[in-house]
Amino acid sequence: MNADNETIIVRIPKVAEHGGFPEFLTEYTISNKCPKCGAKRAIKRWEDYSYDGSKKLLCDRWDNECGHYDTYESIRQEAKKDDFDKLTRMVDEARFNLSTKLGREPSLQEITDHLEAEGLIPPINEGVYV
Ligand SMILES: [Zn+2]
Repeated sequence: MNADNETIIVRIPKVAEHGGFPEFLTEYTISNKCPKCGAKRAIKRWEDYSYDGSKKLLCDRWDNECGHYDTYESIRQEAKKDDFDKLTRMVDEARFNLSTKLGREPSLQEITDHLEAEGLIPPINEGVYV
């Protein structure tokens, strides 16, 4: 992996109102750079409590070199966008491969079936939308 483009894993609540339940903790893989200015992110890391207004939950906290502040919500949005980009790339690739194989533009269903067969996405009935 390119040293300039490394990722870090952070463990934070996946919803704002976590009610203190550790089930709501999840790990996100994010860039090691501040999305606002590109300075090094998380030069100092520790664990602290997230307070949702009623209950506390122990999760990751960190300081960025630049002093910009990442909120848990901004991390969730950042991870969601990364997932979306990944999915878009996967679908584009499948569409290209299938159209080469079929000699025509594949249907969305065929693309989905292909991604499922390759194990790249979970079965649609588990709630993934393409
Ligand atoms: Zn910054």
